[in-house]
Amino acid sequence: MKKFLLYLLGFVFVVFILPIICTTPNKEQEVVANITEENTEMQSTNNTENNNVQNQNYDENYLKYQTIRLLHTETGQIEELSMDEYLYGVVAAEMPASYEVEALKAQAIVARTYTIYQAMNSVGKHENADICDNYACCQAWMSKEERFASWDPNEAEANWQKIVDCVNATTGRIITYNGQPINAFFHSNSGGTTEASLNIWGGIDYPYLKSVETSGEDGYSQYSSEVTISKEDLENKMKEKYQDFEIDFSDENCVQILEYTSSNRVKTIKIGNKEIAGTEARTILGLKSTNFTFSFDGSNFTFSVVGNGHGVGMSQTGADSMAKNGSNYEEIIKHFYTGVEIK
Ligand SMILES: [Zn+2]
Repeated sequence: MKKFLLYLLGFVFVVFILPIICTTPNKEQEVVANITEENTEMQSTNNTENNNVQNQNYDENYLKYQTIRLLHTETGQIEELSMDEYLYGVVAAEMPASYEVEALKAQAIVARTYTIYQAMNSVGKHENADICDNYACCQAWMSKEERFASWDPNEAEANWQKIVDCVNATTGRIITYNGQPINAFFHSNSGGTTEASLNIWGGIDYPYLKSVETSGEDGYSQYSSEVTISKEDLENKMKEKYQDFEIDFSDENCVQILEYTSSNRVKTIKIGNKEIAGTEARTILGLKSTNFTFSFDGSNFTFSVVGNGHGVGMSQTGADSMAKNGSNYEEIIKHFYTGVEIK
C-alpha cells in the first residue's frame, strides 16, 4: 500500500506539478501570448504553451487548411480537395507549363500561401468555401480535363506531370513574414518594376509588398500592348460609369495624366471633368496595366501600355526570366517579397 501511495505521489508530481514548475511564463511571454491571442482569436488560455506563439498559431492554422473547400463559380458547387491536389489546378491555370521548373515551384509556393491567407483572413467571403476558381476574385483553377483540352495532346501528359512534380517538390512550404503567411499577390508582367500594394489599393501598407526591379520581362509578349479607342467610345465608356461626364475634345488637355506612382504607373488621370485613379482608368478603358502613356490624333486615343496586371508581388514572367538566369525558387520569392521567410 505504501509503495502504491509513493507511486501515486510520484505520478502526480511528474504529471501535474513538474510542468507548472518548468513552464511558468515570465512576464514578457505572458504579454506576447495575450497580444497574439487577441489578434488571432485563439481559444487557448494556457500561456505556458505559448513559448513560441507565432509559430504555434501558424502551425495550427496551417494544418487546418490541408483540405481546401473550392467553390466552382459557374455551378456554385463546392469541392473538397487536398491542398496539393488543388494547387495542381491552380498552377496549371495560372502559369504556362513551358516555364522553368524553378518558376513553377515559386508559383506553387506563392499560390499555397495565397490560399492559406485567403482562407484565414477572408472568412465569409465565400459561404462554406475557402476560395473560388475565378482569377478575378481569388485565383484561377482548372481541372485536369479542362487543362488538357487546351494543350497539345502530345504534350499534355508531360506538362501535367511537370506541374505535379513542381507542386509536390514544395509540399507544405509557404512564405511568411513575422511568422505569419503573407498576402502573396502575383501578376503576369510588371513591366520591369513591381508596384507597392499601397499605391494600387491603398489600405494596408504590407511591408513585404514593395516595389522592386526585375530585368528580362521585356522578352515576353505580355510586356507591351496597345489599345486604340475612338473619342466617341471613350466618351461612352466614361458615361457608363459617370452620368454627369463631360469632355471637350478641342481642349488639348481634355485627357491629362496628373500624377504617377513611384514605379511610374499612372496614379491619377483627368478625363474630361473627372479626376480618377489610374486603376479605375485601367478598368474603364480595358488596359492591361496602369503603366501607360497615350496620344490623341483628333479622332482616336492610342494607349501604349507596359506590363500586364496590377504589378504587385511576384511577376510570373519575371520569375521565369530569373529562373532562366539560374535563380532558384527561394531566390525568386525573396526577390519579389521583401524580408520574407520560406517555411
Ligand atoms: Zn473568390
